Amino acid sequence: MSSKDKLRRAWKRLISRSLGTITGVETDIPAIALTFDDGPDPRFTEKLAGLLEKYNARATFFVVGQSARRYPDIIKRLAEAGHAIANHSWSHQSFLTLNSRQRRKQIRMWEKATASYGCRLFRPPFGHQNFWSRLDAFFMGYRVVTWTILAEDWLDIDAQQILSKITPKIMPGSIILLHDTLHTYLDEKYTDQTPTLEAVEELLVRFGDQYQFVTLPRLLDFGKARKTDWRRRPDSAWMSKLKRADSTSLP
Ligand SMILES: [Zn+2]
Repeated sequence: MSSKDKLRRAWKRLISRSLGTITGVETDIPAIALTFDDGPDPRFTEKLAGLLEKYNARATFFVVGQSARRYPDIIKRLAEAGHAIANHSWSHQSFLTLNSRQRRKQIRMWEKATASYGCRLFRPPFGHQNFWSRLDAFFMGYRVVTWTILAEDWLDIDAQQILSKITPKIMPGSIILLHDTLHTYLDEKYTDQTPTLEAVEELLVRFGDQYQFVTLPRLLDFGKARKTDWRRRPDSAWMSKLKRADSTSLP
C-alpha cells in the first residue's frame, strides 16, 4: 500500500471514529435499547413509563425541546425513574433546512429546556444529516445515534404490524426506534400511539427473559459502538405532506 493510501485510510478511520453515526452496539451481552422519539406527551409518555416500570425496563427518550419545556414534570419523572433523556432538537426541523448557526441554536435551546437531565446523545429529526450538520453536533459535544431497527410507527399500523417489523431483527446491541408521540405526521388519525404502547408491552413480555432493556448510555458501555457514515436527505414531496403538532398545540 502506498503511503498516500495509508494516509487516506488513517484519515477515514479518524473521521469515522469522531464523526460516525451510531447504529448499534457490538456486544454478546443480551441487551437492547428501546428509544422513544418526539415526546414528551401527557397522552402517552407516562403510560409508557408505567409499562417500563412494570417490567423493570429502562429506555431512552429523544425528546423535543419545545415539548420538554411544556412538560418539565414528565422529564423529571422519566429521569428519576432511570431513563435517559436525549436530544432530538428544539423544534424538530430537518437540520438540512437550517444553517449551522440555527442548528446549534436548536441543540442549545434543547439543553436549556431539559435542564440537568439531558445526556449528550443526539438523534437528528427525520434522521436527516449531511457532513456539515454532523459536524455541528460534533462541535456541540454530541454523539449522534440513529437506529438499528425501524418500526414505522408513524404510519397507521397496528401493534402486530409494529412487532413484525421488530422481532425478527432483534439481537444483542440493537437500538429500536419507536415514538411515544408524533411531532410531525401525515394525518391526524395516525397520532394515536396506543398501538406502539401495545407493541412495547408485548416486546417486554416476549423478550423480557432473554434480554435486558437498557438505556443507550448503558448499552454503549456493553461494547463497541457500530458507526456508519450516515447521510440522509429530505424527500421534499413527503416533507410537504407533513403536519406539525407544534403549529396548533404550543403556546
Ligand atoms: Zn422525530
